[in-house]
This record gives sequence, structure tokens and C-alpha cells, in this order.
Amino acid sequence: MILPEPKDTDVVQLAALSAVGWAEGLSFRQEDGDYITVMLLAAGLARIRDDRRRMDAGEYLTRTSADQGLLPVPWRSGMTRLWWRFRTAGEIPPQNDLKLFELCRKPFSEWPIRLRLSVADIEQSLLDGDELTPMAEQAARLSVRDVEAELIENLVFRELMLVAELNARDEAEVQTHYCELRRLLIDNPILSEAQVRRLTGRFPKCGGNGQPVLQRFIQAAYVHRAAPGRVKIAVCDRCGNPTQQGVDGCGTVGCSGHPADLVIESVGGYYVQHRATRRFFHDPGLVEARVLDRLAEISTEGTIRVEEWPGLDAYDIRVSFLSGLDVIEVWGADAKDQVSPGLLGLGFSWRPDPPCDRRFLVLPKHRADQPGYVADLTAELQGRASDVSVVSEDAFVASVVARAEEVTGR
Ligand SMILES: [Zn+2]
Repeated sequence: MILPEPKDTDVVQLAALSAVGWAEGLSFRQEDGDYITVMLLAAGLARIRDDRRRMDAGEYLTRTSADQGLLPVPWRSGMTRLWWRFRTAGEIPPQNDLKLFELCRKPFSEWPIRLRLSVADIEQSLLDGDELTPMAEQAARLSVRDVEAELIENLVFRELMLVAELNARDEAEVQTHYCELRRLLIDNPILSEAQVRRLTGRFPKCGGNGQPVLQRFIQAAYVHRAAPGRVKIAVCDRCGNPTQQGVDGCGTVGCSGHPADLVIESVGGYYVQHRATRRFFHDPGLVEARVLDRLAEISTEGTIRVEEWPGLDAYDIRVSFLSGLDVIEVWGADAKDQVSPGLLGLGFSWRPDPPCDRRFLVLPKHRADQPGYVADLTAELQGRASDVSVVSEDAFVASVVARAEEVTGR
């Protein structure tokens, strides 16, 4: 099948795209045209959802009068692009917004036109009922207009940095604190009052209002649940996320844990992670934590030195291979747990500082095992970050072990 080339309407649409305001560092190629359309639609859907939430909360929307009654700009731009795509393919385009909403509920593979998306992505849809799918969330997050996600992720990050900085005597200590707090979010979907008290003792510095900044960080990342006395919470025995009653298994993507009881002695209640904290810090951090734990075991032999989230999270893991006191080689790894390999490739960039000799993009097993995922991601990275090797978490750890043995000549 010969696919039609993108038309000159793309110039107009790319202008619309930049007006929407995309995240920095994104670069598009001609063949990414359909990804742009998908991202516009997803960004539009996210805006529609956010607008609805704000109206439900009693807030009036203050758009310009020309915008009144119309759906958001990215949605309309996505629809226009799609209209041209349908026409050039000799198909009848969706006639109105409702028809396009309907289409968004179907996997792309069932659309009347064949979008140029990767094999793994073509089976995804944008809506599941009225909810955004994980693919749509990922696509919308590439746009700076995903208001709710941006706000909460930035707030948690800002408060975390404040705790790390205010409680540190030098830059090295800022980095140590950063890693400790980052790990706290991965290891603790739930915190007891006693844990928060201990943390406040460890990070005692107060902000302008006299309140320890640690407590502000906890308030940003967690929700306090009132539950006096002894409480029993159903959680996953592996990832620690709260589990839903009557549901087998954990519910977290890629986790094979089972429900277990967590018992907490409380005075007033306990803290559970905000939905956004779980989505942006906890769940994607699980693979980072697994790899770091396995490398920590290996590093006890003295053949490697491991740095967590070097350069305040330039990437996730930096491994130095040692021969005696000499550093022979340095590897960097960034672990990513995302639904769409196409979108991951589009948005991926490597921060060069601190430097390393080899670069790896590490995938959790449940993504690496998905048919076509690695091939699609590797293809999407070509010309963008071609020197980055895509590997599974197991393959990465095995490569580190093998290289460490080579370097020490065992
Ligand atoms: Zn789990």
C-alpha cells in the first residue's frame, strides 16, 4: 500500500501546533505527521477534561469571545489535519465532533485510514469510555498545556528540591537528599504519621512561614486520610500501591504482586500518595528502583560504583567500572516505563552532563517483552538519539556484570 505524502497543510498546522505550545526539545520529522495529529487530539481531549473539571468546580472559563462555545484549539487543529488525511486517502472524514469522539474510542487499527504509527501504538485508542487512555495521557503530556499534570508534578518536584537544598550544607548533600526523597516516593505509596515525624526530624529546616519544608513536600505529594487508631489498608505486597477491594492482583501495569494487609497505628490518620505522584514518580520509578537495587548488590564487590539520579536527575543511573582506584569506563542509563514507544522516541532526549561513555535506555520487562516495542522505539530514536542502546532491565544488569568481569580481568 502506498501512503499519501503529507500535504502543504502541514505548514499551517505546524504553526497551529507551535501556538498550542509544545514541550521544549521535541523535534518532528516528515514521517511523524500522524503522531502530531494524535498528540493534538490527545492535548485537545485533556483540555476538554480539564475545562469540564473546572466548570464542575464552579469556575467560569474566561476564554476570548471568539473561542466561546468552541472546543479547544489543539482538538480543532487535530480534526483539520485528520480531515485532510481522510480526503487524500479517499475516505469520508468524521463529520462532526461527536463522530470524532466516537473514533477516538476505537483502536487506531480500526480507523478507516491507516495512520503511520508504530506496530505497538496502532492497537491503542485515545479514549476508554470518557476517560483518557494511558496513550492519550502520554501524548497530552508532550504538550505543555496538560494543566493539571504539569501543576502537580512541578509542585511536588519544587517542594522536593526545596527540602533537599534547605537541609544541605553543600552541593554533594543536595544530591544525597534528592536521591533519598526521590526513593521515598518510590518506596512509600503510603506513609504513617510516625514516618512523617521521623522524616521531619531528619529534614528539620523551616520555610518562611515557620513550617518545616518537609511537611509542605508531604502535603504536595500525599493526601492525608483521617483514620484514628489502628487502621488496616489493602496494599500490593510488591509495589505497595493501595489495591481495590474485590480485585485480584495489583492493578499497577507490569506488577505481579498480590493484595496484602498493611497495619498502621495512627493518631489522626495516614498519608496516601496523590494520584499524580503515583503516576509521575512512584509507578515509573519502580523499574529504576529494581535496577538500582540489583546494581547495589553488585557494587559491594568493589568492581563498579553506582550513582543514583546523577546531576540531580540528568538521567537515572551512572555506573563507573573500576580497576582498583581507576575508572576504566562510565555507563549512563535512563529507565522509561511508557505505553507508547513512538511517543517515547519522539520526546526522548539525553542530557550530556554528567558525561558517560555509553548510553542506555532501559525498559521494564513488561514493555521489552511486548511484541514490536523495542524495534519501534529503536526506529523512532534513529537520527534523534542514535547512540542510545535500547535494552531490557535484565539485559542491562547482565551487561553491567559482564563488563565488570572484563574490566577486572576475571
Ligand atoms: Zn503492585
